[in-house]
Amino acid sequence: MTVDLSAFPRVPLGHWPTPLDDCPRLGAALGGIRVLVKRDDVSGLGVGGNKLRKLEPLLGAALADGADTVITFGAVQTNHGRQTAAACARLGLRCELILTREVARTSDAYQRSGNLALDHLYGATVHLCDDDRQAEDAYRRAVDSAAAEGRKAVTLPVGGSNALGVLGYVAATAEMFTQLDGLRITPDRIVVPVGSAGTAAGVALGVALLDRPTRVDGACVSHTAAESLADIRRLAAESAALLGRDTPALTHVRTDDRAVGPGYGVPTAALWDAVRLFARTEGITLDPVYTGKAAACLVDMARTGEITAGETVVFLHTGGLPGLFAYAPDFPAEAER
Ligand SMILES: *Cc1c(COP(=O)(O)O)cnc(C)c1O
Repeated sequence: MTVDLSAFPRVPLGHWPTPLDDCPRLGAALGGIRVLVKRDDVSGLGVGGNKLRKLEPLLGAALADGADTVITFGAVQTNHGRQTAAACARLGLRCELILTREVARTSDAYQRSGNLALDHLYGATVHLCDDDRQAEDAYRRAVDSAAAEGRKAVTLPVGGSNALGVLGYVAATAEMFTQLDGLRITPDRIVVPVGSAGTAAGVALGVALLDRPTRVDGACVSHTAAESLADIRRLAAESAALLGRDTPALTHVRTDDRAVGPGYGVPTAALWDAVRLFARTEGITLDPVYTGKAAACLVDMARTGEITAGETVVFLHTGGLPGLFAYAPDFPAEAER
């Protein structure tokens, strides 16, 4: 089966297709599995990452509606906000970021550098808030001032995760299977980090629509496995409806929260071990919030024998590089170990 997304306007933002790298030294270190890494971390604009995939249909719709202002949300070190800011710069749109201090890190690096410094660099207007109530007020003010100034604002959800944004990862999944088919590989599973769940929902729906036997393992980074699975199901169903397709059964999808640790954005020893492993076997840089924890989950699944020798696994690298530098002093210290 194929997926036709031509009815949805899409603004090109990334460098597609992103590479699909064979990682033999990593696979050997994980006990003899074949690992391929889908490099959505090097998708181009604004340092790259998975959010560009979702922003292509989201901003395509916004431009078709005549929007000139984009408002969105996130944590202080949101990668989604940074990629939205870069996309808005490129498209000549005004970008308003409502950012909430939800991770208890008070270092100057976390509060000013990393993604946040890039938000400013790309010319976004940043509203820093202490809690959800302040964020709600800041949002109201941004909407009201756009209206008062005669601007047309669109609001994008956290992580760009809604039915339309998910289509970006349906397209990505089709792109990935074209690459895999060229290599004559049918992976046993795809490991994907799960935050706001749009990425995993798109991959899960894409695999279902393409009718492939591959399983999707969502590695949770913030919510529990049950909550994340519910989010994936809801988004995949909404996105399928947008395509005029039936709600997919998603029997091929699992979620796993073993690597979350104390919470979203809180580093763990297993995370840093996984970051070092990818770096020292393949020269691939993971991030401390999403891909590092997803990799820690993958490593544990290999070590416990849940992934068996001889399996072929695709690890979806969703980006997040600027976050590493926001995690000083942990990051340079962990790199030196
Ligand atoms: C946002 C993000 C994710 C999670 O994607 P969701 O679609 O929100 O689940 C994973 N990795 C990185 C680097 C991200 O920025």
